[in-house]
Amino acid sequence: MFSRHLTKDISAYCHGELSNEESKQFAEHILSCAKCRTKFEEVKLGIKLAEQLPQLSAPDHLWYELEPLLAGQTETTANLTSSRYRSWRMLAATAAALLLISSLGIWWVYNNRTYPLSSENPKAGWHVKRLDGAPKIGSESISNNGQLAVGEWLETDGSSRAQIAVGSIGDVEIDENTRVRLLQTQPTEHRLELARGKMSARIWAPPRLFFVNTPSAVAADLGCAYTLEVDDHGSSLLHVTSGWVALELKDRESIVPAGASCETRPVLGPGTPYFEDCSTGFRDALKKVDFDPDAAARSTALASMLDQARPRDTLTLWHLLARVDGEDRGHVYDRMAAFVPPPAGITRQGVLQLDRTMLETWRHALESTWMSGSGKGKRKPIGEAVKNGLSRRLKDMVPK
Ligand SMILES: [Zn+2]
Repeated sequence: MFSRHLTKDISAYCHGELSNEESKQFAEHILSCAKCRTKFEEVKLGIKLAEQLPQLSAPDHLWYELEPLLAGQTETTANLTSSRYRSWRMLAATAAALLLISSLGIWWVYNNRTYPLSSENPKAGWHVKRLDGAPKIGSESISNNGQLAVGEWLETDGSSRAQIAVGSIGDVEIDENTRVRLLQTQPTEHRLELARGKMSARIWAPPRLFFVNTPSAVAADLGCAYTLEVDDHGSSLLHVTSGWVALELKDRESIVPAGASCETRPVLGPGTPYFEDCSTGFRDALKKVDFDPDAAARSTALASMLDQARPRDTLTLWHLLARVDGEDRGHVYDRMAAFVPPPAGITRQGVLQLDRTMLETWRHALESTWMSGSGKGKRKPIGEAVKNGLSRRLKDMVPK
């Protein structure tokens, strides 16, 4: 299908050496080309591992041996060569020292590469453009353009808005009364913290490169556009307009496609995704199922949801399978099976026992039903890359 693979560009992409346009073309190619994506994942993993190399100190005895040798450089050559033993020791010690110095040098160069300040160089921080009013980076207002470095806060008041260029992989618009902080920007991971307020993201990178930490979940980009809003209590609301987003906290994960939304709560994490064109009754009942502390109230609400569900609402029901138990889980299964019979090999018993493979297989079969809705927004089936991503549990997605 592809006449030209981009494997030779992977290193340049990972080191921020491609132009914005080239990066965008690279990311789009990676999204749809399994061969290049596999190579890219390998390089990404290698970079991650390199970043985790510990800084080693030379053992003390090496310095004790080096000191006299260095002092000995002032001695006469004749004196040095008079002993083959000393000469051998000097050679060995020097070789060891050179090896150590070069290893530390490579490590240091890797970790201290300097980048000019531009949006094409991810380590420099992100370029910020003022859209309205006077947004602040730290305590300084920016006039038209600014640079958001790692660790810095960008804040807007009731009359200011800003736009951030996320390296070369996308952009994020910051609404009024919003506080965001840049946590990390690396070729292998870009991460923002949204403490409060609202942001809209458009990302054209391979899945799981862009993350947003909120007080109650982490949003992982799976190739998409979305808005994310955090209130003063730390609850958030995600609304996906294109592609897919994963919301995660600890072992709880919600996969949210275009046209769907998902709420989160502190401690509890992500609620269950729902299509926005579902009935009001369905949505209200879901809120109870997700967040009501009373078990009986949750059970009653679930029955009401099952009554009002449409075939597309199997998005919500599929997520609920693992979140309700006992007879409730059986009721959810039966309602889903009436809408979209499970593919061959999937049994009621297996699903009720939350067999991972069966759940995933059924989900893939359900995707066409989820994508066939009448709602707004571009919809496309979740790609192979995303599927691969979903089957992974990313410990690093949990807020630190
Ligand atoms: Zn390719």
